[in-house]
Parts: sequence; C-alpha cells; structure tokens
Amino acid sequence: MTLEQQDKQYVLQTYARDYTNFVKGVGSTLYDENGRDYIDFASGIGVNSVGHGNEKLANAICEQAKNIIHISNLQVIEPQAKLAQKIVELSGYDDMGIFFANSGAEANEGAIKIARKYGETKFDNKKYKVITLEHSFHGRTITTVKATGQESFHTPNFSPYPDGFSYEKSINDVYNAIDDETVAVLIELVQGEGGVQPFEKEEIQKLATHLKAKGILLIVDEVQTGVYRTGEFLASNLYEIEPDIITLAKGLGGGVPIGAVMTKHKEILSAGDHGSTFGGNYLSTSAGLAVLDVLSTMYTNGTVDETLLYFSEKLKMIAEKYEGLFEKEVGLGLMRGLRAKNAEIQGAVLKNALKERLIVLKAGRNTVRFLPSITISKNEIDEGFKRFETAISTL
Ligand SMILES: *Cc1c(COP(=O)(O)O)cnc(C)c1O
Repeated sequence: MTLEQQDKQYVLQTYARDYTNFVKGVGSTLYDENGRDYIDFASGIGVNSVGHGNEKLANAICEQAKNIIHISNLQVIEPQAKLAQKIVELSGYDDMGIFFANSGAEANEGAIKIARKYGETKFDNKKYKVITLEHSFHGRTITTVKATGQESFHTPNFSPYPDGFSYEKSINDVYNAIDDETVAVLIELVQGEGGVQPFEKEEIQKLATHLKAKGILLIVDEVQTGVYRTGEFLASNLYEIEPDIITLAKGLGGGVPIGAVMTKHKEILSAGDHGSTFGGNYLSTSAGLAVLDVLSTMYTNGTVDETLLYFSEKLKMIAEKYEGLFEKEVGLGLMRGLRAKNAEIQGAVLKNALKERLIVLKAGRNTVRFLPSITISKNEIDEGFKRFETAISTL
C-alpha cells in the first residue's frame, strides 16, 4: 500500500491534499523522500514561525518532554505562568490576563464566551450579538464557523448554528449595525484566509474609539497576524489600538498546538466558567517560551524588520514585472499576497510553483499568499523568488 492509498483509505478526506512526502526540514527548506529540496513560503499556514528544525525550540521541547509533558490545569504550571507574563509584556498592554487553548478556533470560542458573559453581567439588558466582517475567517467549530463572514461556510449540512452573529461589508457599515444587544465587534486587522487584505489604520482607530465610547468590546483575531507576522509582536501594536480581547494561535508554538485568548477584563471569567484539558500544558507553553525567546531577540536586533523589507522588495519587483498576471501586491510584513487577475491564474501559479519546488498558498478567490517563517534567510528568499519567477514565466 502506498502512502497515498493509506491516507485515502484511513484518513477522512476533508482536504484536497498534495501527496509530496516531506521527511526533513531545515529552516525554510523542506526535503521530500527523494531528497529534493523545496523552499517553504507557507510555514504550515503561518505556524512554523521559527522555521523547521529550530534548535532552541527543539531543545526546549525535548527537555520538557523528558520531564513533564502534561499534568492538568488543576495544578499550577510554571511555563504557562511564564508564557502568560511574557505575552502580556511583549504586547505592551500591561494589565491583561490569558487563557490558553489549543487552536485558533478554540481561542476565538474563549473570546466569544468572555464577550457573552460580559454582555450578560455588565448591563441591565442582555447583550449577546457579535458583529463580524464579510470575508473574515474565525475557525471551523460550529460557533466560529458561524462567526466567519463567508456564506459558503454556513451550509445547511451543519445547521442549526448559534444565534447572535451578523456580518458587515466594511468597517464603515459596522457603525449602523450596532444595536442595543450588540456586545462585541470581532475583526482581523489583516484578513488572512479572506485574501490577505489589511484595513486602514485610521478606520480601525476610529472604530476602536467609537466602540470604547459605546461600551462595546473590540475583539481582534490575531490568530494569523500575531507573533511578529506583521513586523510587530501584535498587529494591534502596529495599528496602535488597545483591544478588549485578542486571540493568538498559529505562530505561537512554532508548530506545537497552542491557542491563547488575552483580555483586560480579567474579572469576567471565574473558576468553572471555562476550561481545557490540554490548554497551556508544560509542552506547549515551553514551546511558546522558546519561540518568543527566538523571535523577540530577532525583533530587538532588527532582523525581523530587515527580513520583511527584503521580502517586500522582492515581491514588489515581481508584481511590477508581471503586471499581466497580477493586479497588485497586498498584505503587511511577512503576511503577503499577489492578487491574481483571476482564479485561473491563481490556480496555475500554485500548481507551477509546486512543480518548481516552492510552497505557496492560496487565499480568497484570486490571491496567491506568502506566509514564510519569520526566521527565513535572505538566501532562502532569493531562491524562493527565483523559483517563483520560473514558475510564472511560462504563464
Ligand atoms: C487559522 C485561523 C483561525 C483558525 O485557527 P485553527 O487553529 O485552525 O482553529 C482563526 N482565525 C484566523 C484569523 C485564522 O487565520
């Protein structure tokens, strides 16, 4: 039985899977079973923030695994407390508290629960409605899929869905959608899955000010934008706003599953309100500490800035040179995209890139998405774009 056959027989076929079998990773280079190298511009959809085979991360995981991998949240967990402190300090939002989960969807579930309880307990009338945006993506659980503002996700196959979510076309439309039962607005600052679309800083700041005045919570889903993806620790730092609730996941554990919801409303959830068996265990929080150690050092010494400038220059050159294929380049930091003229071009680019041994992603209907590791080297960036040009030169 081949690997492909085995996968098809025993794994539920929920993905349109490619069957290249990767057996080794070094930095932003992956090797298949035949020893061929691939440049990784996707980092496991923004997860491998410190690349593959990072020694500091690997050592932290190994050392932790030899001692305690997991106890339970009924006991205090030292690396969990340390990681919570580290995240709060790096965010610059002094007085926040964190709950650890295992994924982005779960982090968003936590955020929605905090908002719901806030709306239940802080006002005379019950407030429970959460406004999100069209083209957003917030996860795959029944609740977070309903929070996701894309009709195609709300198929009757999984209905009924929880009430209380509505979607607006733009930030500007949010103002009129607010009513007496609205408790929160949930947004990404750069829509990732929706097409690598950043919002204007001014419109986000204006919304944040308005929501604060109205007593409505601003929840920022930083599952993809967080952990230096946009060049700052949080995209909220880049936008210079202070959300009530922020969620993190993808890049935080460098590949070890972890999610986090942080809030300044530390008093809302009390004992028994929320929980997770695995969330914040020794292994995942030790991994998180190692990741933040690596990346915060690179941020402070200017390497993160240098890398994203370098990547940006290369991408701009491609966008200009191949304006027959691409409308424009989009995104922020190391969360980038090329908006293809149509979906056929997008599909052909993705297919050809893989043939040239370069891993890129799609986003939205016509965007080719780049989410390299934050630690990617200049050589790997050069080689990746060389392969990208070869891939598209025949289109
Ligand atoms: C990936 C993603 C999620 C879902 O995260 P999972 O870990 O797959 O549950 C939620 N929100 C955003 C913005 C994401 O990019």
